[in-house]
Amino acid sequence: MANKPILPPAMLGILGGGQLGRMFATAAKTMGYRVTVLDPDPQSPAADFADVHIAKPYTDPQALAQLAATCAAVTTEFENVNADSMRWLAQQGLVVSPSGDAVAIAQDRIAEKTFIRNAGLDTAPFLPVRNSGDLAGDLSAYLPGILKTARMGYDGKGQVRVNTADEARLALSNMKHQACVLEKMLPLMAEVSAIVTRTRAGEAVCFPVAENQHVNGILDVSIIPARIGDALLERARAMALQLVEKLDYVGVLAVEFFVLEGEQLVINEMAPRPHNSGHYTLDATLTSQFEQQVRAMCGLYPGRPDLLRPAVMVNLLGDTWGENNAEPHWEVLMTAPNTKLHLYGKKEARIGRKMGHFNVLADNADAALEQAMAIKDTL
Ligand code: ADP
Ligand code: MG
Repeated sequence: MANKPILPPAMLGILGGGQLGRMFATAAKTMGYRVTVLDPDPQSPAADFADVHIAKPYTDPQALAQLAATCAAVTTEFENVNADSMRWLAQQGLVVSPSGDAVAIAQDRIAEKTFIRNAGLDTAPFLPVRNSGDLAGDLSAYLPGILKTARMGYDGKGQVRVNTADEARLALSNMKHQACVLEKMLPLMAEVSAIVTRTRAGEAVCFPVAENQHVNGILDVSIIPARIGDALLERARAMALQLVEKLDYVGVLAVEFFVLEGEQLVINEMAPRPHNSGHYTLDATLTSQFEQQVRAMCGLYPGRPDLLRPAVMVNLLGDTWGENNAEPHWEVLMTAPNTKLHLYGKKEARIGRKMGHFNVLADNADAALEQAMAIKDTL
């Protein structure tokens, strides 16, 4: 890997052109870089802001060769990207951030949770399930639990709650015996996330910890700073920083935590990219998580992550548009001076589809939350 910083107007590539790719492209273009997006979807949200959109599959040899020939560095916006595509690009001499190896760990729950444990950090009790034989023994340490597919799960998809060993075995057979983890259901006091940026030179900074509320397995609201007390906030930051060090990670890494009774903190999962719970950084911190992604891949020093004001981020799902795809009532949101709307340019609203989000900045997190909920009611 080159040690010299990559400077504008270099071309940066991104695998994936969803909303995370769109916000990455906006950050990179603002800084004077050019952007190539690889995404098979001809209507990909990131293409609106990219200089070049290659509408081909992520493993297409010609598309990867074009990235290798035209880009100085490549990143990804989703963890299910083919790790071998990332490794191949690195072999061609490109800066690839995060590495294919880090992506490979984050995209497989068995590898991920095992890595976290081996790094000396806590997870929920989990059992790797590679075949039905792994569910043959005494499962009481993991029940009641959740059977999660090892790969391709997101927004609560690929998960089944199970109360008994028989239910776990039935769930595995319904999942066509894919590799899974069986994880004990824990009583959650709260869920929080910490997003870390680490550069090739090993400088690492952590954004303020967000408190995350989910509805139907999808992130609904993030509250920043998380209302869990200073000691836990500090511990979450320290654990996230320890994890990026152990991974020798270069890029932006999001770490999700469960807060348990007795001030206990366990790591749920990690994402090798900016994260929905970090969208508040677009407006409420000195540097956004997308600018950090650019800075890390270009070998620049990470920007300062300081919180400018407490904030709340509210996800806007297609549900708000309703069945007839009607535009929400934006008036109240758009006329509030401390509120910022971000839409992803998706033409068609569907139930559960992430269409955009808005951020509310206020004097404290509770005030931001109250105003955010009042605005949401007007949409
Ligand atoms: P995804 O990849 O879909 O985000 P997660 O493992 O983060 O999958 O699970 C989604 C949500 O389900 C979590 O944010 C949490 O609310 C709930 N959940 C997952 N695992 C557990 C658990 N072991 N105990 C309690 N709740 C859980
Ligand atoms: Mg999750």
